[in-house]
Amino acid sequence: MTRKQYDAIIIGAGIIGNSIAYELARKGLKTLSIDKLGGSGFGSTAGSCAVIRLYYSSPEGVALAREGYYYWLDWNRYLKVIDPAGMAYYRNTGAMVFKSDLNHNLAPVMHSLDALGVGYLELTPDEMRDYLPNPDLSSFHPQKRMDDPDFGKPTGKSVNGALFVPESGYVSDPKLSTHNVEMAARNIGSDFLFNAQVVDILKKDGHVSGVTLKDGTVLEAPVVVNVAGPHSSIINQMAGIEDQMNIKTRALRVEVAHVPSPEGVDWEQTGIITSDSDTGVYTRPEIGNHFLIGSEEPKCDPLEYVDPDNYNLEFTDQARVQVMREAMRVPDLPIPNKSQGVVDLYDLSDDWYPIYDKSSLPGFYLAIGTSGNQYKNAPVVGSFMSELIQYCEKGNDHDTDPLQYRMRYINHTLNIGFFSRNREINKDSSFSVIG
Ligand SMILES: Cc1cc2nc3c(=O)[nH]c(=O)nc-3n(C[C@H](O)[C@H](O)[C@H](O)COP(=O)(O)OP(=O)(O)OC[C@H]3O[C@@H](n4cnc5c(N)ncnc54)[C@H](O)[C@@H]3O)c2cc1C
Repeated sequence: MTRKQYDAIIIGAGIIGNSIAYELARKGLKTLSIDKLGGSGFGSTAGSCAVIRLYYSSPEGVALAREGYYYWLDWNRYLKVIDPAGMAYYRNTGAMVFKSDLNHNLAPVMHSLDALGVGYLELTPDEMRDYLPNPDLSSFHPQKRMDDPDFGKPTGKSVNGALFVPESGYVSDPKLSTHNVEMAARNIGSDFLFNAQVVDILKKDGHVSGVTLKDGTVLEAPVVVNVAGPHSSIINQMAGIEDQMNIKTRALRVEVAHVPSPEGVDWEQTGIITSDSDTGVYTRPEIGNHFLIGSEEPKCDPLEYVDPDNYNLEFTDQARVQVMREAMRVPDLPIPNKSQGVVDLYDLSDDWYPIYDKSSLPGFYLAIGTSGNQYKNAPVVGSFMSELIQYCEKGNDHDTDPLQYRMRYINHTLNIGFFSRNREINKDSSFSVIG
């Protein structure tokens, strides 16, 4: 059994965990990041579509994404290292978000974008044609499963129009970006331990005191941060704090389809991000001139909660139904016989908003419940989680007097209490990956 003292232990070396490690190290703390997998970003971050977009159902969500966007623009300078493995980069494409009755024709989103000075175009259905290859702009809402005889039949109405937000895009390689942050953190003294599984959270005198690894190693620290992604609930159970949280997390299995572009279309170079609440799918251009197609969780699709250590890694009908839904909008889209893409997990919270908070165990912090939509925010989360940890460790009570975080790039102060584990379920949430 070995012992070593750290200021903070971070469980999980995904994009959020590493961002917290880097920001804590920037504040002078000696950190240790532990991951049971073989390297940074090998968990759910590796499967991420890494879409950087600004529309969320709440003003807080929009502000956070807007702030995050600037970190990606400023990536190399922010990290202050050049990773020998290469640097991930942000590619701007713009995003077209469909208006629908479901999202109140995006009135709350426009309000938030206006408040932050974000530019966008409001498009009529006819103007939307300029952005998609030979689209069908009929409405197909509400969505159905493939075995429904009305699947794919237009309702006779048109879609309501859309917003085009030019400042949106995606990051080239989410796993590499996480490695970039590891390099940045190591550069200022952080340690990383891979292939090491945390099996217990240690406590002393009512305070967290460290972790035990599967091989029996005990590692001590007065601060432990749960950033275990889809395993967050398991770690909270080890710490004995889950019962004292109003919002819980669980692993949700999802499929993302990759399909070739329609013939003659260079979607890799000319494509945009789309969020189509009418057909219930989002897309982004993918390397290899592909469409990458994810779900916006229409009501007809059952949510598949799973054991994060034992779930089906094969494609089911889900990826196919997503492709068929996109083919309603882009009828020239080729539909391959065999599904290709990603099967992975979201760390889902009850209201699809993350939990960024302290916990009922002093010294034990939470950056969890990222619900398929927090990759883009990781650097900001790292920044305010490091402030939150210092704020609480100085004796402030974040539950009663929540940290007000002054953002670096935009003129905005965010009440971090918004992300509390003890909030009421956010009824304004889309209850989908949109957040
Ligand atoms: C298919 C998919 C598409 C997505 N698309 C987008 C998108 O377009 N835009 C966006 O903003 N977000 C997106 N997301 C969400 C985003 O990727 C996640 O919010 C983010 O990657 C979560 O990072 P993380 O560091 O919290 O978790 P992870 O990357 O899951 O990291 C957690 C780590 O904890 C480790 N761990 C777990 N248990 C233990 C243990 N007991 N001991 C040691 N280590 C442990 C795991 O091995 C893992 O590496 C998507 C997610 C998925 C799955």
